[in-house]
Amino acid sequence: MTISLARRYRPKRFSDLLVQDHVAAVLRGAVSRDRIGHGYLLTGPRGVGKTTAARILAMALNCPNRTTEGDPCGECESCERIWSGGASLDVVEIDAASNRGVDDARDLRERAMYAPSEESHYKVYIVDEAHMLTREAWNALLKVLEEPPPRVVFVFATTEPQKIANTAAPVLSRLQRFDFRRIGPAAIRDRLRAVLDAEGISADDDALTLIARHADGGMRDALSVLDQCLSLGEGQVTAARVRETLGLASDELLTDLLMLIAERDAAGVFRLVDALLESGADLGEFLLAAGEMLRAMLLLKVGGTPEGLTEAVRAVLDRNIDALSAGDLLRMLKLLADQEESLRRSASPRLVTETLLLRWVMLDRTVDLEQVIAGGRTGGGEGQGGRTGGQGGRTGGRDEPGGQTGGQGGQGGQAAPPAEPPSRRAVEPATLSAPFTLAGAQSVWPSAIEAVREQSRFLGEALAGTRVVEVEAPVVRLELPEANPMNHENIERQARMVETVLAAALGAPVRLKVQGPGSQGDAPRPRPITEASARADRLSGLRRKDPALDVAATELDLEIVD
Ligand SMILES: [Zn+2]
Repeated sequence: MTISLARRYRPKRFSDLLVQDHVAAVLRGAVSRDRIGHGYLLTGPRGVGKTTAARILAMALNCPNRTTEGDPCGECESCERIWSGGASLDVVEIDAASNRGVDDARDLRERAMYAPSEESHYKVYIVDEAHMLTREAWNALLKVLEEPPPRVVFVFATTEPQKIANTAAPVLSRLQRFDFRRIGPAAIRDRLRAVLDAEGISADDDALTLIARHADGGMRDALSVLDQCLSLGEGQVTAARVRETLGLASDELLTDLLMLIAERDAAGVFRLVDALLESGADLGEFLLAAGEMLRAMLLLKVGGTPEGLTEAVRAVLDRNIDALSAGDLLRMLKLLADQEESLRRSASPRLVTETLLLRWVMLDRTVDLEQVIAGGRTGGGEGQGGRTGGQGGRTGGRDEPGGQTGGQGGQGGQAAPPAEPPSRRAVEPATLSAPFTLAGAQSVWPSAIEAVREQSRFLGEALAGTRVVEVEAPVVRLELPEANPMNHENIERQARMVETVLAAALGAPVRLKVQGPGSQGDAPRPRPITEASARADRLSGLRRKDPALDVAATELDLEIVD
């Protein structure tokens, strides 16, 4: 039982090629009608059956028991040998990704001159990862393809055809190209089910859905994950076992995220990421799953039918379908795409994840930014401004009032209402990540800088080396490492972004004050009037008038700086 499922269930006939019927039909027809080309290019994502198709073609061409439809028997010695990738006189497999492969390819021209081992046979060269071939190798191949020896067939498989177009366009024009399709989650699930039935093993629907989602269109990956799951335990394959194998977060955390977004619960993001890490989940996988969930929601909104959702996620989506507009979802997906690179490279995936989730939660939903700039929205509720702010953070939370750690923010708010309304609703003192004290603020400050840097590199630079020197809720006082009017102004102009991040970490509204090195108190600095600062002033005026514009304004500052 050591043979992997991927291998044991690899197709032996054209008709077994999952989803690639269009390719199978043409190749089978060519074989049965004896109209074989000299060069084929098979393109498509990994794990969708390109190499398998190439082998089936080689089998069909050399099988003594070939069916009239053009399928190989799959049983004879020739078929067996080719199918298992073993030594065959007539089939040569080359992995272009290895150095050896490139040498082989250079050597091909000479080798192609040898006829097949028998009159009735075809010599088939299967070149995997063909985009890795060098220009010289392609040049040699071009000569062969220009005057192809009889009964010699080249099959090139690649995930990146555009690279071949760049290095070897003349060769491309001599190849018959087949684009292999990504295998959809439903097809993968069905196939896994069939394999498990053949093995006499049962599985949850959700388990197979999770594997299919993870495999992202690749059957081979799906089978190899299933293999791992089977080796992890006996009996029925459950969703829990799949999650354990793949380091997936539970659906509960995924649906929690959707609730956080719907309720704009910024502080909840830190709780959620804590829970993720505690459960041993892979943050990258979680964001991937979250992206899939948002995509599914978008699809539902435009009348499509999303695939690959577990029952639980599907149910939560249905319940919250109106929480986000299609435009919001698109913007969230774009934010995710923008972060993918930094997530892959960052030494602190936690920070990247928190930042992204914060941005999702704080995403401005419906305000038209142009209108904000133009002052198009009438600034209603001016008198309320400061007050709503002071209370809003508290009342927006869950039923637990204040709690043990609370008090500070509220008292501070009442005794000296912040000049600007605090950032978000649903910031609950009961869910502090760090206490609103000097030590607490200092402990989260480095992460806060990083979180800000993710949103604005410029502002992140300005904050580098600053330290928190005093905390008296809601005021957090920063000290610059050196007198630098530029940095000072930049931080003040974008204080809102910093305040938002800190508020989320400290669980209460924050008012940021900045001072130069060693200075006492906040001696206001004369600010040079620039177009930007004038614009910022106008914006902060607008913000004061209407707390609902905060998010929009924050987003807007991003645009101006970046
Ligand atoms: Zn055969």
